[in-house]
Amino acid sequence: MTDTTALHRIVDAIRARRTFVISSHSRPDGDSIGSQLAMACALRDLGKEARVVNKDLAPGPLLAFPGVPEIEIADEVSGTYDAAIIMECGDLARTGVAGLERQLIINIDHHPGNSEYGQINWFDASAAACGEMVFELIKALGVPVSVEIGTHIYLAILTDTGSFHYGNLTPRTFDMCRQVIEAGVDPVAVARSVYDSNNMGRLKLFGAVLSAMQIDAAGRIAIVYLDHEMARAAGGTYEDTEGLINLPLTVKEIQAVVFFKQVEGDEYRVSMRSKGEIDIGAVAKEFSGGGHKNAAGCTVSGPIDALQKMFLEKIEAAIEQGGNGGRGGNGFTQRREETEILK
Ligand code: 5GP
Ligand code: MN
Repeated sequence: MTDTTALHRIVDAIRARRTFVISSHSRPDGDSIGSQLAMACALRDLGKEARVVNKDLAPGPLLAFPGVPEIEIADEVSGTYDAAIIMECGDLARTGVAGLERQLIINIDHHPGNSEYGQINWFDASAAACGEMVFELIKALGVPVSVEIGTHIYLAILTDTGSFHYGNLTPRTFDMCRQVIEAGVDPVAVARSVYDSNNMGRLKLFGAVLSAMQIDAAGRIAIVYLDHEMARAAGGTYEDTEGLINLPLTVKEIQAVVFFKQVEGDEYRVSMRSKGEIDIGAVAKEFSGGGHKNAAGCTVSGPIDALQKMFLEKIEAAIEQGGNGGRGGNGFTQRREETEILK
């Protein structure tokens, strides 16, 4: 549910101010980039100044989107702005950009566990993407939805829902998509840009990682692994693995995936995905990470065999708790029962 008080406070704060810096988390994804660029366009349409500053470059397939070249890559912002709008960050440190703490912070996020670090905090865990919140804000500001704004909103929603596969898909999600398509967005062109602009190294890397995939004894959990040597041998980069984690979930019986990516030595980035009610966000939290019920991550250190065993045990427990255990459940069953009761 939208927190209308927070939304209206942000509308008032924006109307009363002129210069803005917009940031999001390091290693930004489609939701970060789409939310930031839609917001920047809307602010400029209101006659305001907006700079977009991130720690890291946008993922390769997003480089073709209008507005991406204007994103500044920096570890620090100097100077003072009337406000900093931070998107998609549970805490300010997730930006990896210093100097934001000196600004008046407007915090807009949909990740459970947001630490409310801003002077104004708008948090909506029911939003399928931060882009949904930005769309609502843009409408509340009275800015017409241009093709450019709509394209970035659609990018945010398309990518953060895994192409309408998971997350909080609601009538609101589809209503916003309807509105941006009415405004002139070409959803096929956006999808092609995001998903059909791979390089060969990426495809070969997918092949190498999936060939080495392991499955747990019960056939419900996929474990994938990547180190620098494998990436080099396949001719791909770590950035090329974006989206790979979702592939094991396309197997009906697979309920959850855990992906270990070597950072250096014994340190690993762990990404997890799950289906239905399996809460791997809670697993990530146990290791000081975070995310959502069905998509989460953390960073851990230790011998890889021990780490894999530990995560398997935690994910198995999450599957048992989630009630999908062994049924190959996909969420349909429960919904159908509910529908039948309503009839
Ligand atoms: P990914 O697996 O794509 O890196 O992340 C999946 C989700 O988990 C994203 O929504 C991301 O924001 C969140 N996430 C991933 N890693 C971390 C982390 O180390 N800390 C927190 N708080 N969230 C994370
Ligand atoms: Mn998001």
